[in-house]
Amino acid sequence: MNLHEFQGKQILSSYGVRVQRGHVANTAEEAVTVAKQLTEETGTGWHVIKAQIHAGGRGKGGGVKLAKNLDQVSEIAGQIIGMDLITPQTPPTGKRVNKVLIAEDVYYPGDGEISEFYMSVLLNRATGRNMIMYSTEGGMDIEEVAEHTPHLIFTEEIDPSVGLQGFQARKIAFNLGLSGGAFKEMVKFVDSLYNAYVGCDASMFEINPVLKTSDDKIIAVDAKVTLDDNALYRHADYAEMRDESEERPIEVEAKAAGLNYVDLDGTVGCMVNGAGLAMATMDLIKYAGFEPANFLDVGGTADAKRVEIAFRIILKDPNVKAILINIFGGIVRCDRVAQGIVDAYKNMGDEIKVPIIVRLQGTNADLAKQIIDESGMPILSAIEFQEASDRVKEALS
Ligand code: GDP
Ligand code: MN
Repeated sequence: MNLHEFQGKQILSSYGVRVQRGHVANTAEEAVTVAKQLTEETGTGWHVIKAQIHAGGRGKGGGVKLAKNLDQVSEIAGQIIGMDLITPQTPPTGKRVNKVLIAEDVYYPGDGEISEFYMSVLLNRATGRNMIMYSTEGGMDIEEVAEHTPHLIFTEEIDPSVGLQGFQARKIAFNLGLSGGAFKEMVKFVDSLYNAYVGCDASMFEINPVLKTSDDKIIAVDAKVTLDDNALYRHADYAEMRDESEERPIEVEAKAAGLNYVDLDGTVGCMVNGAGLAMATMDLIKYAGFEPANFLDVGGTADAKRVEIAFRIILKDPNVKAILINIFGGIVRCDRVAQGIVDAYKNMGDEIKVPIIVRLQGTNADLAKQIIDESGMPILSAIEFQEASDRVKEALS
């Protein structure tokens, strides 16, 4: 689950990570109210107005702007709220901005230099360990840094049995060229950031930029936080942070129906029970020379109602040219599933305009095939994996 910047910062702050402080606003009026409040809390005179959407690169698209007085706060917030913000990470039509974060200006002048760093925490799947990735080149696209100056990106892997060690945090501060107060602040920052990552069951943190202020404070100016959906049951307060308006409507609908659905780009819709079988089915489609249109795990109870909901969801994707149903009847008997499919098909009538290939294997598979073959519906049935693949090929060629 992705979070908005302001939500990510709330979590970081609760773990003692210093963040650029701010409050959210839904209207220009509210923006002025919270800007005044922020001035009282922090003493800041200048405010940064930041569009809250689930996409980065907002600065480049005009979604992050500095306001030097309250009139400008009102004017800029008014412009940004309601706009369709286009950034390199949004769809070409942009994303509608519903909220802005009014934040303190932390780029104030002073005796020391201001520096922007990059820092992320993520799982290195190859080694099965968390790692901190960081760079002196903050504030810009890390992809660009990786392409042109890869030697400026450092990584630090963490041994899960002992956690982040003091020497590792010091090495990071050292590699970022820090000394004195800023060095100490960075060590503390890295330590709290890593604790936050582990504590909230995140799958990714990306803080770009991490700022060294002119008075040697280390601050998270931005926060891209992704939490692990499978751990959300442990964090009811974070689960409430989900913003469904930022998610694909079709995936929201599937989730509400208890289906595990991920939209993909291919032409063969899949309906499968069990994540492992779903993965194998996607492989099968690829071996047949096609691409899956989705990942869909209908779970253990493949009754007519669920099959119908799954059908409807798959058919909302205009790219779908065929549907492959691959169900293993273990606890759920194949004949029941077959009846469910036939009933759903009957209910949906002429809404289904693409060929359906059904492979049912397991308890009562033969009976299931018979039900499908005798239903009079244009459903192609198969029992073996290879047969199913051949049928997909036939249907699409
Ligand atoms: P992103 O463009 O979506 O990654 O949004 P960021 O939160 O990273 O902000 C974009 C840019 O706005 C930063 O890289 C900074 O250059 C600038 N910015 C952010 N906060 C401040 C601030 O407090 N003062 C000033 N002057 N600029 C800021
Ligand atoms: Mn950023």
